[in-house]
Amino acid sequence: MPRPPWVNQAPAATLGGTPQVRPHACLAYRGFCTVCSERCPVEGALLVELGRPRVIPEVCTRCGACVAACPAPINGFEVIPEEAPPPQKEAPRGR
Ligand code: SF4
Ligand code: SF4
Repeated sequence: MPRPPWVNQAPAATLGGTPQVRPHACLAYRGFCTVCSERCPVEGALLVELGRPRVIPEVCTRCGACVAACPAPINGFEVIPEEAPPPQKEAPRGR
């Protein structure tokens, strides 16, 4: 899915992957916390549904603000690495 145009104006990616909420670590699953959604600088990248945060990978710029701001004792985010590009095939050696 193509990214919306405003994404290009967002902070550059620093995470090297997409943050994904870990329900067992996220405080919003046991009580209340909205720190990550308040700190996310990209509109629509981190939604709160029924009080629980969810990252929208197609919108998220991987800036890392949410991961850095999370106050949970075990960080509420797991960073899912970007898919590695397929290995390049070696060109046949001619002789
Ligand atoms: S900041 Fe951390 S603990 Fe708080 S809602 Fe976001 S992921 Fe959960
Ligand atoms: S890394 Fe976190 S703070 Fe940054 S755009 Fe994605 S969801 Fe928002």
